[in-house]
Amino acid sequence: MEDQYITNTPIPNGHFYHGECHLSKKDECIEVVCPSTGEVYAQMPIASKETVDNIVLASYNAQRDSDWATRAPRERAKVLYRWATLIEQNQAYLARLEAIGSSRPMHEVLAWDIPYIIDTARFFAELADKHGGYIGATQSDRLGMVIREPYGVVGAITPWNFPLSMAMWKAAPALSAGNAIVIKPSELTPFSTVYLAKLAFDAGLPKDIFNVVLGSGRETGAALCEHPQVGKVTFTGSTQTGASIMSACAMTGPKPVTLELGGKSPQIVFADTKDLERTAHCVAKAITGNAGQVCVSGSRLIIDKSIEASFIECLKRYFKQLSPGVTWESETTLSPIISRQQATRIQSIVDQSIKEGADCLCGGEIINGLGGAYFAPTLLKIHDEKNIALEQEIFGPVLTIQTFDTEHEAWSLAQHDVYGLAAGIHSANLDRVMRGIRKLEVGSVWINRYGRSFDHIMPTGGYKRSGIGKDIGIEAFEANLRSKSVLLEFDEAY
Ligand code: ADP
Repeated sequence: MEDQYITNTPIPNGHFYHGECHLSKKDECIEVVCPSTGEVYAQMPIASKETVDNIVLASYNAQRDSDWATRAPRERAKVLYRWATLIEQNQAYLARLEAIGSSRPMHEVLAWDIPYIIDTARFFAELADKHGGYIGATQSDRLGMVIREPYGVVGAITPWNFPLSMAMWKAAPALSAGNAIVIKPSELTPFSTVYLAKLAFDAGLPKDIFNVVLGSGRETGAALCEHPQVGKVTFTGSTQTGASIMSACAMTGPKPVTLELGGKSPQIVFADTKDLERTAHCVAKAITGNAGQVCVSGSRLIIDKSIEASFIECLKRYFKQLSPGVTWESETTLSPIISRQQATRIQSIVDQSIKEGADCLCGGEIINGLGGAYFAPTLLKIHDEKNIALEQEIFGPVLTIQTFDTEHEAWSLAQHDVYGLAAGIHSANLDRVMRGIRKLEVGSVWINRYGRSFDHIMPTGGYKRSGIGKDIGIEAFEANLRSKSVLLEFDEAY
Protein backbone atom coordinates (compact mmCIF):
# COMPACT_ATOMS: atom_id res chain seq x y z
CA MET A 1 0.00 0.00 0.00
CA GLU A 2 1.27 3.43 -0.87
CA ASP A 3 2.22 5.58 2.06
CA GLN A 4 -0.46 8.22 2.79
CA TYR A 5 2.23 10.85 2.92
CA ILE A 6 3.12 10.17 -0.70
CA THR A 7 -0.48 9.84 -1.90
CA ASN A 8 -1.35 13.20 -0.40
CA THR A 9 1.44 15.03 -2.24
CA PRO A 10 0.71 16.14 -5.81
CA ILE A 11 3.69 15.34 -8.04
CA PRO A 12 4.66 17.83 -10.81
CA ASN A 13 5.33 15.09 -13.32
CA GLY A 14 6.34 16.22 -16.81
CA HIS A 15 8.83 18.25 -18.78
CA PHE A 16 8.66 21.94 -17.90
CA TYR A 17 8.58 24.31 -20.87
CA HIS A 18 6.39 27.12 -22.25
CA GLY A 19 5.72 27.94 -18.58
CA GLU A 20 3.92 24.65 -17.89
CA CYS A 21 4.40 21.02 -17.01
CA HIS A 22 3.84 18.77 -20.06
CA LEU A 23 3.38 15.04 -20.31
CA SER A 24 4.13 14.09 -23.90
CA LYS A 25 2.04 11.14 -25.01
CA LYS A 26 4.82 10.12 -27.36
CA ASP A 27 7.40 9.61 -24.62
CA GLU A 28 8.02 6.23 -23.01
CA CYS A 29 7.84 6.19 -19.22
CA ILE A 30 9.89 4.71 -16.39
CA GLU A 31 8.93 4.04 -12.80
CA VAL A 32 10.14 6.41 -10.13
CA VAL A 33 10.66 4.84 -6.71
CA CYS A 34 10.53 6.50 -3.29
CA PRO A 35 13.90 5.63 -1.67
CA SER A 36 12.43 5.69 1.85
CA THR A 37 9.85 2.98 1.21
CA GLY A 38 10.81 1.30 -2.06
CA GLU A 39 7.36 2.11 -3.52
CA VAL A 40 6.79 3.22 -7.10
CA TYR A 41 5.05 6.60 -6.88
CA ALA A 42 5.20 7.95 -10.44
CA GLN A 43 5.71 7.07 -14.09
CA MET A 44 8.18 9.58 -15.44
CA PRO A 45 8.44 10.35 -19.17
CA ILE A 46 11.75 9.79 -20.92
CA ALA A 47 12.27 12.61 -23.40
CA SER A 48 13.20 11.33 -26.83
CA LYS A 49 15.74 13.13 -28.98
CA GLU A 50 12.84 14.90 -30.68
CA THR A 51 11.36 16.12 -27.38
CA VAL A 52 14.80 17.34 -26.25
CA ASP A 53 15.18 19.13 -29.57
CA ASN A 54 11.85 20.95 -29.14
CA ILE A 55 12.59 21.98 -25.58
CA VAL A 56 16.13 23.18 -26.33
CA LEU A 57 14.97 25.13 -29.38
CA ALA A 58 12.29 26.82 -27.28
CA SER A 59 15.01 27.93 -24.84
CA TYR A 60 17.33 28.97 -27.64
CA ASN A 61 14.66 31.18 -29.21
CA ALA A 62 13.62 32.61 -25.86
CA GLN A 63 17.18 33.57 -25.02
CA ARG A 64 17.53 35.38 -28.38
CA ASP A 65 14.06 36.87 -28.66
CA SER A 66 13.18 37.83 -25.09
CA ASP A 67 14.99 40.63 -23.28
CA TRP A 68 16.44 38.28 -20.65
CA ALA A 69 20.04 38.73 -21.76
CA THR A 70 19.74 42.40 -22.74
CA ARG A 71 17.72 43.88 -19.90
CA ALA A 72 19.62 45.76 -17.21
CA PRO A 73 21.45 43.18 -15.08
CA ARG A 74 19.81 44.57 -11.93
CA GLU A 75 16.43 43.78 -13.49
CA ARG A 76 17.57 40.15 -13.95
CA ALA A 77 18.69 40.18 -10.34
CA LYS A 78 15.19 41.25 -9.23
CA VAL A 79 13.70 38.14 -10.83
CA LEU A 80 16.21 35.94 -9.00
CA TYR A 81 15.37 37.71 -5.72
CA ARG A 82 11.66 37.11 -6.33
CA TRP A 83 12.45 33.48 -7.11
CA ALA A 84 14.28 33.18 -3.77
CA THR A 85 11.22 34.64 -2.02
CA LEU A 86 8.85 32.23 -3.76
CA ILE A 87 11.09 29.31 -2.75
CA GLU A 88 10.89 30.57 0.83
CA GLN A 89 7.10 30.83 0.64
CA ASN A 90 6.73 27.37 -0.92
CA GLN A 91 9.33 25.62 1.19
CA ALA A 92 6.92 23.23 2.87
CA TYR A 93 5.80 21.74 -0.45
CA LEU A 94 9.32 21.75 -1.94
CA ALA A 95 10.61 19.95 1.15
CA ARG A 96 7.87 17.32 0.79
CA LEU A 97 8.82 16.71 -2.82
CA GLU A 98 12.49 16.45 -1.92
CA ALA A 99 11.84 14.13 1.02
CA ILE A 100 9.63 11.77 -1.00
CA GLY A 101 11.85 11.71 -4.02
CA SER A 102 15.34 11.66 -2.56
CA SER A 103 17.38 10.53 0.42
CA ARG A 104 17.24 13.94 2.09
CA PRO A 105 15.52 13.92 5.50
CA MET A 106 12.75 16.51 5.60
CA HIS A 107 14.10 18.30 8.70
CA GLU A 108 17.48 18.66 6.98
CA VAL A 109 15.87 19.94 3.78
CA LEU A 110 14.10 22.62 5.81
CA ALA A 111 17.11 23.47 7.95
CA TRP A 112 19.78 23.22 5.28
CA ASP A 113 18.87 22.59 1.62
CA ILE A 114 16.12 25.19 1.30
CA PRO A 115 17.95 28.03 3.09
CA TYR A 116 21.03 27.03 1.09
CA ILE A 117 19.34 27.33 -2.32
CA ILE A 118 17.65 30.57 -1.32
CA ASP A 119 21.06 31.99 -0.45
CA THR A 120 22.55 30.63 -3.68
CA ALA A 121 19.88 32.39 -5.75
CA ARG A 122 20.54 35.64 -3.86
CA PHE A 123 24.32 35.29 -4.11
CA PHE A 124 24.18 34.98 -7.90
CA ALA A 125 21.55 37.72 -8.16
CA GLU A 126 24.03 40.02 -6.43
CA LEU A 127 26.67 39.18 -9.03
CA ALA A 128 24.49 40.10 -12.00
CA ASP A 129 25.95 43.61 -12.37
CA LYS A 130 29.34 42.99 -10.79
CA HIS A 131 31.20 41.98 -13.90
CA GLY A 132 32.01 44.02 -16.97
CA GLY A 133 35.00 42.70 -18.83
CA TYR A 134 37.95 45.08 -19.18
CA ILE A 135 39.71 47.63 -21.38
CA GLY A 136 42.80 46.27 -23.09
CA ALA A 137 46.16 48.09 -23.11
CA THR A 138 46.03 48.76 -26.85
CA GLN A 139 47.77 51.36 -29.04
CA SER A 140 46.59 54.93 -28.46
CA ASP A 141 44.51 55.31 -31.64
CA ARG A 142 42.17 52.50 -30.72
CA LEU A 143 40.16 51.24 -27.83
CA GLY A 144 40.18 47.54 -27.04
CA MET A 145 37.31 46.20 -24.97
CA VAL A 146 36.87 42.68 -23.74
CA ILE A 147 33.18 42.23 -23.08
CA ARG A 148 31.48 39.26 -21.45
CA GLU A 149 28.40 37.67 -22.95
CA PRO A 150 26.23 34.68 -22.10
CA TYR A 151 26.57 31.44 -24.06
CA GLY A 152 22.91 31.24 -24.99
CA VAL A 153 21.55 27.93 -23.73
CA VAL A 154 23.37 26.12 -20.93
CA GLY A 155 22.60 22.40 -20.70
CA ALA A 156 22.79 21.03 -17.16
CA ILE A 157 22.76 17.43 -15.98
CA THR A 158 22.29 16.90 -12.27
CA PRO A 159 22.65 13.92 -9.91
CA TRP A 160 20.28 12.42 -7.35
CA ASN A 161 22.01 13.13 -4.05
CA PHE A 162 20.98 16.79 -3.49
CA PRO A 163 18.48 17.45 -6.28
CA LEU A 164 17.46 20.97 -5.27
CA SER A 165 20.92 22.21 -4.38
CA MET A 166 22.47 20.80 -7.54
CA ALA A 167 19.77 22.32 -9.75
CA MET A 168 20.34 25.70 -8.07
CA TRP A 169 24.13 25.44 -8.42
CA LYS A 170 23.61 25.22 -12.16
CA ALA A 171 20.59 27.49 -12.69
CA ALA A 172 21.43 30.55 -10.58
CA PRO A 173 24.78 31.52 -12.16
CA ALA A 174 23.62 30.63 -15.68
CA LEU A 175 20.47 32.77 -15.37
CA SER A 176 22.14 35.65 -13.59
CA ALA A 177 24.68 35.85 -16.44
CA GLY A 178 21.85 36.11 -18.99
CA ASN A 179 21.70 32.55 -20.29
CA ALA A 180 18.73 30.26 -20.70
CA ILE A 181 19.11 26.88 -19.02
CA VAL A 182 17.74 23.42 -19.73
CA ILE A 183 18.22 21.00 -16.84
CA LYS A 184 17.93 17.24 -17.02
CA PRO A 185 17.64 16.08 -13.42
CA SER A 186 18.47 12.52 -12.42
CA GLU A 187 15.76 10.05 -13.41
CA LEU A 188 15.82 8.88 -9.78
CA THR A 189 14.91 12.29 -8.32
CA PRO A 190 13.30 14.43 -11.00
CA PHE A 191 10.34 16.32 -9.55
CA SER A 192 11.66 18.96 -7.15
CA THR A 193 13.63 20.44 -10.07
CA VAL A 194 10.43 20.74 -12.12
CA TYR A 195 8.83 22.72 -9.30
CA LEU A 196 11.92 24.89 -8.91
CA ALA A 197 11.63 25.85 -12.60
CA LYS A 198 7.92 26.60 -12.17
CA LEU A 199 8.70 28.94 -9.28
CA ALA A 200 11.32 30.72 -11.40
CA PHE A 201 8.70 31.22 -14.10
CA ASP A 202 6.21 32.49 -11.50
CA ALA A 203 8.89 34.92 -10.32
CA GLY A 204 8.89 36.59 -13.74
CA LEU A 205 11.45 34.69 -15.77
CA PRO A 206 10.43 34.85 -19.44
CA LYS A 207 8.92 31.66 -20.87
CA ASP A 208 11.45 28.93 -21.73
CA ILE A 209 14.42 30.65 -20.12
CA PHE A 210 14.47 27.85 -17.53
CA ASN A 211 13.24 24.53 -18.92
CA VAL A 212 13.43 21.05 -17.47
CA VAL A 213 13.58 17.91 -19.57
CA LEU A 214 12.98 14.58 -17.87
CA GLY A 215 14.55 11.32 -18.94
CA SER A 216 17.34 8.82 -18.74
CA GLY A 217 21.02 9.65 -18.95
CA ARG A 218 21.85 7.61 -21.98
CA GLU A 219 18.97 8.87 -24.12
CA THR A 220 17.80 12.26 -22.85
CA GLY A 221 21.04 13.39 -21.17
CA ALA A 222 23.12 12.48 -24.18
CA ALA A 223 20.69 14.25 -26.55
CA LEU A 224 20.94 17.40 -24.43
CA CYS A 225 24.76 17.37 -24.46
CA GLU A 226 24.88 16.73 -28.19
CA HIS A 227 22.36 19.39 -29.14
CA PRO A 228 23.94 21.98 -31.48
CA GLN A 229 22.03 24.84 -29.84
CA VAL A 230 23.42 24.08 -26.39
CA GLY A 231 26.38 26.41 -25.95
CA LYS A 232 27.87 24.94 -22.80
CA VAL A 233 27.29 21.91 -20.59
CA THR A 234 27.56 21.69 -16.84
CA PHE A 235 27.40 18.37 -15.02
CA THR A 236 27.66 16.96 -11.51
CA GLY A 237 27.90 13.20 -11.10
CA SER A 238 30.24 10.25 -11.44
CA THR A 239 33.65 10.48 -13.09
CA GLN A 240 32.70 7.83 -15.64
CA THR A 241 29.55 9.67 -16.77
CA GLY A 242 31.49 12.95 -16.76
CA ALA A 243 33.95 11.40 -19.23
CA SER A 244 31.08 10.27 -21.51
CA ILE A 245 29.59 13.77 -21.39
CA MET A 246 32.91 15.41 -22.17
CA SER A 247 33.40 13.09 -25.07
CA ALA A 248 29.87 13.78 -26.39
CA CYS A 249 30.54 17.52 -26.09
CA ALA A 250 33.83 17.12 -27.93
CA MET A 251 32.40 15.07 -30.76
CA THR A 252 29.33 17.24 -31.35
CA GLY A 253 30.83 20.62 -30.59
CA PRO A 254 33.33 20.99 -29.31
CA LYS A 255 31.68 22.95 -26.54
CA PRO A 256 32.90 23.87 -23.04
CA VAL A 257 32.05 21.70 -20.04
CA THR A 258 32.12 22.15 -16.30
CA LEU A 259 32.36 18.81 -14.52
CA GLU A 260 32.03 18.24 -10.79
CA LEU A 261 32.83 14.55 -10.36
CA GLY A 262 33.64 11.78 -7.91
CA GLY A 263 35.87 11.79 -4.87
CA LYS A 264 37.62 9.63 -2.32
CA SER A 265 38.37 12.37 0.13
CA PRO A 266 40.63 11.90 3.16
CA GLN A 267 40.04 13.18 6.67
CA ILE A 268 43.44 13.37 8.33
CA VAL A 269 43.44 13.43 12.11
CA PHE A 270 46.60 14.27 14.06
CA ALA A 271 47.13 13.47 17.74
CA ASP A 272 47.25 17.21 18.51
CA THR A 273 43.67 17.75 17.34
CA LYS A 274 42.06 20.01 19.95
CA ASP A 275 39.08 17.97 21.08
CA LEU A 276 38.97 14.28 20.20
CA GLU A 277 35.23 13.84 20.78
CA ARG A 278 34.34 16.90 18.69
CA THR A 279 36.70 15.82 15.89
CA ALA A 280 35.21 12.32 15.90
CA HIS A 281 31.72 13.81 15.54
CA CYS A 282 32.89 15.90 12.62
CA VAL A 283 34.52 12.88 10.93
CA ALA A 284 31.46 10.67 11.56
CA LYS A 285 29.07 13.29 10.23
CA ALA A 286 31.15 13.70 7.08
CA ILE A 287 30.65 10.04 6.18
CA THR A 288 27.09 9.47 7.42
CA GLY A 289 25.48 12.73 6.26
CA ASN A 290 22.99 11.79 3.50
CA ALA A 291 24.22 8.21 4.21
CA GLY A 292 27.55 8.99 2.60
CA GLN A 293 25.90 9.83 -0.73
CA VAL A 294 27.85 13.05 -1.12
CA CYS A 295 30.58 13.71 -3.67
CA VAL A 296 32.78 15.32 -1.00
CA SER A 297 32.10 12.62 1.63
CA GLY A 298 35.14 12.22 3.87
CA SER A 299 35.42 8.52 3.13
CA ARG A 300 39.03 7.81 4.17
CA LEU A 301 40.06 8.35 7.78
CA ILE A 302 43.84 8.69 8.11
CA ILE A 303 44.69 8.85 11.78
CA ASP A 304 47.68 8.97 14.12
CA LYS A 305 48.15 5.44 15.47
CA SER A 306 48.41 6.70 19.07
CA ILE A 307 44.78 7.93 19.14
CA GLU A 308 43.22 5.32 16.86
CA ALA A 309 41.56 3.13 19.51
CA SER A 310 39.83 5.90 21.45
CA PHE A 311 38.80 7.66 18.23
CA ILE A 312 37.17 4.51 16.88
CA GLU A 313 35.18 4.17 20.12
CA CYS A 314 33.86 7.73 19.63
CA LEU A 315 32.92 6.98 16.01
CA LYS A 316 31.06 3.83 17.02
CA ARG A 317 29.12 5.75 19.69
CA TYR A 318 28.09 8.32 17.08
CA PHE A 319 27.07 5.65 14.57
CA LYS A 320 25.01 3.81 17.18
CA GLN A 321 22.73 6.76 17.84
CA LEU A 322 21.83 7.21 14.17
CA SER A 323 18.30 6.21 13.39
CA PRO A 324 17.32 4.97 9.92
CA GLY A 325 13.80 5.71 8.71
CA VAL A 326 11.60 7.39 6.15
CA THR A 327 12.79 10.88 5.32
CA TRP A 328 9.61 12.60 6.50
CA GLU A 329 9.89 11.36 10.12
CA SER A 330 11.56 13.89 12.39
CA GLU A 331 13.52 11.14 14.23
CA THR A 332 15.26 9.98 11.05
CA THR A 333 18.98 10.65 11.20
CA LEU A 334 20.23 8.00 8.76
CA SER A 335 19.07 8.50 5.17
CA PRO A 336 17.95 5.70 2.89
CA ILE A 337 20.24 4.65 0.07
CA ILE A 338 18.84 6.02 -3.17
CA SER A 339 17.99 2.60 -4.65
CA ARG A 340 18.16 -1.10 -3.88
CA GLN A 341 20.65 -1.44 -6.74
CA GLN A 342 22.96 1.14 -5.19
CA ALA A 343 22.73 -0.57 -1.77
CA THR A 344 23.70 -3.88 -3.38
CA ARG A 345 26.67 -2.20 -5.01
CA ILE A 346 27.82 -0.83 -1.63
CA GLN A 347 27.43 -4.31 -0.14
CA SER A 348 29.50 -5.93 -2.87
CA ILE A 349 32.38 -3.45 -2.42
CA VAL A 350 32.34 -3.96 1.37
CA ASP A 351 32.32 -7.75 0.93
CA GLN A 352 35.17 -7.59 -1.55
CA SER A 353 37.14 -5.26 0.73
CA ILE A 354 36.83 -7.76 3.58
CA LYS A 355 37.86 -10.57 1.23
CA GLU A 356 40.96 -8.54 0.39
CA GLY A 357 41.91 -8.40 4.06
CA ALA A 358 40.05 -5.43 5.61
CA ASP A 359 38.65 -5.84 9.15
CA CYS A 360 35.02 -4.79 9.46
CA LEU A 361 34.82 -3.02 12.86
CA CYS A 362 31.09 -2.26 12.66
CA GLY A 363 28.17 -2.27 10.23
CA GLY A 364 29.02 -3.86 6.91
CA GLU A 365 25.53 -4.72 5.79
CA ILE A 366 22.18 -3.60 4.44
CA ILE A 367 19.60 -2.93 7.17
CA ASN A 368 16.58 -5.07 6.28
CA GLY A 369 12.91 -4.69 7.15
CA LEU A 370 12.44 -0.98 6.49
CA GLY A 371 11.00 -1.04 2.97
CA GLY A 372 13.62 1.20 1.43
CA ALA A 373 17.28 0.23 1.25
CA TYR A 374 19.36 1.41 4.23
CA PHE A 375 23.02 0.65 4.91
CA ALA A 376 24.54 0.39 8.39
CA PRO A 377 27.38 2.88 9.05
CA THR A 378 30.53 0.87 8.47
CA LEU A 379 34.16 1.05 9.58
CA LEU A 380 36.75 -0.87 7.56
CA LYS A 381 40.28 -1.11 8.96
CA ILE A 382 42.53 -1.36 5.93
CA HIS A 383 45.92 -3.08 5.92
CA ASP A 384 46.77 -2.92 2.23
CA GLU A 385 46.88 0.21 0.06
CA LYS A 386 45.46 -1.70 -2.91
CA ASN A 387 42.19 -2.51 -1.12
CA ILE A 388 39.08 -1.94 -3.26
CA ALA A 389 37.42 0.21 -0.57
CA LEU A 390 40.28 2.72 -0.87
CA GLU A 391 40.27 2.77 -4.63
CA GLN A 392 36.59 3.06 -5.48
CA GLU A 393 34.09 5.76 -4.64
CA ILE A 394 31.49 3.83 -2.61
CA PHE A 395 28.83 6.54 -2.15
CA GLY A 396 27.57 5.02 1.08
CA PRO A 397 28.24 5.34 4.84
CA VAL A 398 31.50 3.40 4.67
CA LEU A 399 34.64 4.83 6.27
CA THR A 400 38.04 3.23 5.70
CA ILE A 401 40.68 3.60 8.41
CA GLN A 402 44.43 3.82 7.88
CA THR A 403 46.99 4.78 10.51
CA PHE A 404 50.28 6.65 10.41
CA ASP A 405 53.30 7.17 12.64
CA THR A 406 54.75 10.26 10.97
CA GLU A 407 53.38 13.39 9.31
CA HIS A 408 55.12 12.43 6.09
CA GLU A 409 53.25 9.13 6.06
CA ALA A 410 49.94 10.97 6.65
CA TRP A 411 50.32 13.18 3.56
CA SER A 412 51.42 10.28 1.44
CA LEU A 413 48.43 8.12 2.46
CA ALA A 414 46.10 11.06 1.81
CA GLN A 415 47.14 11.38 -1.83
CA HIS A 416 44.83 9.43 -4.15
CA ASP A 417 45.86 8.17 -7.59
CA VAL A 418 42.59 9.11 -9.26
CA TYR A 419 40.57 11.59 -7.20
CA GLY A 420 41.33 15.05 -5.80
CA LEU A 421 38.02 16.55 -4.73
CA ALA A 422 38.46 17.55 -1.08
CA ALA A 423 40.33 16.84 2.15
CA GLY A 424 39.97 17.58 5.86
CA ILE A 425 42.88 18.23 8.22
CA HIS A 426 42.35 18.10 11.98
CA SER A 427 45.29 19.56 13.88
CA ALA A 428 46.06 22.44 16.23
CA ASN A 429 49.55 22.85 14.75
CA LEU A 430 49.47 25.74 12.28
CA ASP A 431 52.77 24.85 10.61
CA ARG A 432 51.57 21.33 9.98
CA VAL A 433 48.23 22.55 8.64
CA MET A 434 50.01 24.91 6.25
CA ARG A 435 52.27 22.10 5.03
CA GLY A 436 49.15 20.01 4.39
CA ILE A 437 47.39 22.75 2.43
CA ARG A 438 50.41 22.98 0.13
CA LYS A 439 50.85 19.23 -0.26
CA LEU A 440 47.32 17.99 -0.85
CA GLU A 441 46.35 17.80 -4.51
CA VAL A 442 42.64 18.56 -4.03
CA GLY A 443 40.15 21.29 -4.94
CA SER A 444 38.99 22.06 -1.37
CA VAL A 445 40.75 21.76 1.98
CA TRP A 446 38.84 22.07 5.24
CA ILE A 447 40.75 22.70 8.43
CA ASN A 448 39.27 21.57 11.75
CA ARG A 449 35.90 21.21 10.03
CA TYR A 450 34.55 19.23 7.12
CA GLY A 451 32.21 20.21 4.30
CA ARG A 452 30.85 23.18 2.49
CA SER A 453 29.19 26.07 4.26
CA PHE A 454 26.83 28.87 3.29
CA ASP A 455 29.87 30.86 2.16
CA HIS A 456 28.92 30.87 -1.49
CA ILE A 457 31.98 32.89 -2.33
CA MET A 458 34.05 29.69 -1.92
CA PRO A 459 34.09 27.80 -5.24
CA THR A 460 33.90 24.04 -5.25
CA GLY A 461 35.31 21.53 -7.71
CA GLY A 462 37.99 18.94 -8.07
CA TYR A 463 41.56 18.38 -9.10
CA LYS A 464 42.61 15.37 -11.17
CA ARG A 465 39.69 13.17 -12.26
CA SER A 466 37.39 14.80 -9.71
CA GLY A 467 36.48 17.49 -12.17
CA ILE A 468 37.08 20.45 -14.40
CA GLY A 469 36.00 23.97 -13.46
CA LYS A 470 34.07 25.12 -10.41
CA ASP A 471 30.56 25.39 -9.11
CA ILE A 472 29.46 28.29 -6.88
CA GLY A 473 31.71 31.25 -6.17
CA ILE A 474 32.59 33.93 -8.67
CA GLU A 475 34.23 31.27 -10.84
CA ALA A 476 30.87 29.61 -11.46
CA PHE A 477 29.42 32.92 -12.57
CA GLU A 478 32.36 33.61 -14.88
CA ALA A 479 32.06 30.11 -16.34
CA ASN A 480 28.65 31.07 -17.70
CA LEU A 481 30.08 33.89 -19.80
CA ARG A 482 32.27 33.99 -22.88
CA SER A 483 34.57 36.84 -23.95
CA LYS A 484 34.30 39.03 -27.00
CA SER A 485 37.22 41.25 -28.07
CA VAL A 486 36.18 44.56 -29.58
CA LEU A 487 38.70 46.86 -31.24
CA LEU A 488 37.57 50.37 -32.06
CA GLU A 489 39.79 52.61 -34.14
CA PHE A 490 39.62 56.41 -34.19
CA ASP A 491 41.44 59.29 -35.78
CA GLU A 492 43.83 60.95 -33.32
CA ALA A 493 44.22 64.08 -35.49
CA TYR A 494 41.69 66.97 -35.30
P1 ADP B 1 24.51 7.51 -11.04
O1 ADP B 1 24.92 6.38 -11.97
O2 ADP B 1 24.97 7.31 -9.68
O3 ADP B 1 23.06 7.89 -11.17
P2 ADP B 1 25.62 9.37 -12.91
O4 ADP B 1 26.81 10.21 -12.76
O5 ADP B 1 25.66 8.30 -13.94
O6 ADP B 1 25.32 8.78 -11.49
O7 ADP B 1 24.32 10.25 -13.19
C1 ADP B 1 24.23 11.61 -12.95
C2 ADP B 1 23.37 12.23 -14.02
O8 ADP B 1 23.95 11.97 -15.30
C3 ADP B 1 21.94 11.71 -14.11
O9 ADP B 1 21.09 12.79 -14.38
C4 ADP B 1 22.00 10.75 -15.28
O10 ADP B 1 20.75 10.57 -15.92
C5 ADP B 1 22.97 11.46 -16.19
N1 ADP B 1 23.65 10.62 -17.19
C6 ADP B 1 24.03 9.34 -17.07
N2 ADP B 1 24.64 8.92 -18.20
C7 ADP B 1 24.65 9.96 -19.07
C8 ADP B 1 25.15 10.17 -20.40
N3 ADP B 1 25.77 9.22 -21.06
N4 ADP B 1 24.98 11.38 -20.96
C9 ADP B 1 24.36 12.38 -20.29
N5 ADP B 1 23.88 12.25 -19.04
C10 ADP B 1 24.01 11.06 -18.43
